[in-house]
Amino acid sequence: HDGTIYVTGSYSRLYAVDVKTGQKKWQYDHRLPEGIMPCCDVVNRGAAIYKDKIYFATLDARLVALNKDTGKVVWSKKLADYQAGFSATAAPLVVDGKIITGNSGGEFGIIGMVEARDAETGELIWQRPTVEGNMGTLNGKESTMTGKLNASWPGDMYKTGGGATWLGGTYDPETKTLFFGTGNPAPWNSHLRPGDNLYTSSTLAIDPSNGEIKWHYQTTPHDGWDFDGVNELVSFDLKKDGQVIKAGAKADRNGFFYVLDRTNGKLLNASPFVTKITWAKEIDLKTGRPVYIDDNRPGAPEAAEKGKSVFAAPAFLGAKNWMPMAYSPATDLFYVPANEWGMDIWNEPITYKKGAAYLGAGFTIKPLYNDYIGALRAIDPKTGKIVWEYKNPAPLWGGVLTTAGNLVFTGTPEGYLKAFDAKSGKEVWHFNTGSGVVGSPVTWEQDGEQYVAVVSGWGGAVPLWGGDVAKLVKDINQGGSLWVFKLPKA
Ligand code: CA
Repeated sequence: HDGTIYVTGSYSRLYAVDVKTGQKKWQYDHRLPEGIMPCCDVVNRGAAIYKDKIYFATLDARLVALNKDTGKVVWSKKLADYQAGFSATAAPLVVDGKIITGNSGGEFGIIGMVEARDAETGELIWQRPTVEGNMGTLNGKESTMTGKLNASWPGDMYKTGGGATWLGGTYDPETKTLFFGTGNPAPWNSHLRPGDNLYTSSTLAIDPSNGEIKWHYQTTPHDGWDFDGVNELVSFDLKKDGQVIKAGAKADRNGFFYVLDRTNGKLLNASPFVTKITWAKEIDLKTGRPVYIDDNRPGAPEAAEKGKSVFAAPAFLGAKNWMPMAYSPATDLFYVPANEWGMDIWNEPITYKKGAAYLGAGFTIKPLYNDYIGALRAIDPKTGKIVWEYKNPAPLWGGVLTTAGNLVFTGTPEGYLKAFDAKSGKEVWHFNTGSGVVGSPVTWEQDGEQYVAVVSGWGGAVPLWGGDVAKLVKDINQGGSLWVFKLPKA
């Protein structure tokens, strides 16, 4: 923005860097208290700029507004109680002068939330809980309940039901709608919460003016595998049979690539984007619901004993995790950073305790193939067919970028930023940054030249939770650096 690159880093830090020279202009280090509870490393997924301020969320569940030129704090607001397991890692959105945020902490029995605040003052405008039975607010008063009390949750389970919105959301100005994905229901042990457990593992379409839910689509009803439905819904024009449909696509953690009508949430198509899915046979296009394979759900614990262990694919880290896919209107293809892995998973007895992990499950992640885990796949949304793929030894954990010049960029844990031909998938360029790339490339034009930048720095959920895969990637160097490239003019 105006010759400055803003980068959010680990431990809730934000850097402003001069594009042309790489010189640091300022740095903000958020003072984190003892006892924060990030589940999956000390990550942050980005900032938002509006007028003279830059906004980002912090690991102690605060939203901070800084002056974008000086890095000085303008306001700092508490989003939630970090001692109850809440944190904040999502990039905020700016819509109509409001800052829209999600929350994190679904592994601690928190309640997922989408919130809107005044960009100038940080005052709360509305809140929308993502778990059915909890009450929303608007302008300081109760507004409407999310869903219907106890319709899809037994007893008091909805009070600690998860559904964190930790990836943040997207906004579609054409339909004036926010799209937020919601995380897993809590606890992981699904036998404790019979029902669909709305609105966890779903995409919610939300009215930005008042926080009301316009529609929802649940990708994994009654999830039992930690299939967070947080993945981004990307708006696009689906050209099919001579028509143009206002559509949205989502590559879900559960292994299916969904195409929805984004005006009403109706399912148009769903197809696997990984080679092995054990939990469901398919998605029924009439009902929009998965056809479960009941034997492949981890069993219920009996008394103090763990339940039946199953081998499940995808692994809970997902056929796709946080890393955003990209869409090119030039090729009409989506580019999805996928991973091929499975897990042994079983359930264990659990009771809720404030600020403690609330899983009731154990697991070990395993690769499916000897030669690769990551797979960047080009998908045709009209058919769900995979047009090309690039296989990567380590799991892909970085975002994807397409350009009007028909390039696709993504990074790898092995340290490479890579460029592919968007039509053929041929690798046309790579550069090693010295640490694993788990950030998202960005591009812009400045003084007649096109730039591409990426942050490099290994970390996140894979080394912490990856089981046998974590052992495979244990020698990757940590580090944090920002790399800026120019594209050739020709
Ligand atoms: Ca989760």
